[in-house]
Amino acid sequence: MSDCVFCRIVKKEIPANVIYEDDEVVAFEDLNPQAPVHILVIPRAHLATLNEVGEDRAGLIGKVVSAAVGIAADKGLAESGYRLVANCQAAAGQSVFHIHFHLMGGRNFTWPPG
Ligand code: 5GP
Ligand code: ZN
Repeated sequence: MSDCVFCRIVKKEIPANVIYEDDEVVAFEDLNPQAPVHILVIPRAHLATLNEVGEDRAGLIGKVVSAAVGIAADKGLAESGYRLVANCQAAAGQSVFHIHFHLMGGRNFTWPPG
């Protein structure tokens, strides 16, 4: 989608600090980090929200999560811990409508989130 900021990052039309990419997944540093490690892990395909994930896309989302787990391990977070969060719709805090998982680590987190 030409007006989607994350599609534009996927297409390298706007810059981002890309941490990982493969045929289906791209991961890059969040512009406004909320933790020492704050990386966004997204499918290349434009899907607006998690509501678009049915069984047909379970494999794709599995790859996104698997990539996030691998990045967490690379960042040394596997044992210390990390948070993997996807906000769905505005009330949950979603502001960019291209599915993304926030991989956050390097500090302690509270629960429940606000
Ligand atoms: P949401 O609020 O939708 O769950 O998360 C969107 C995230 O995208 C926010 O943490 C925000 O800082 C990040 N973000 C928004 N625009 C850009 C951008 O142009 N580049 C990067 N790297 N991150 C962005
Ligand atoms: Zn998009």
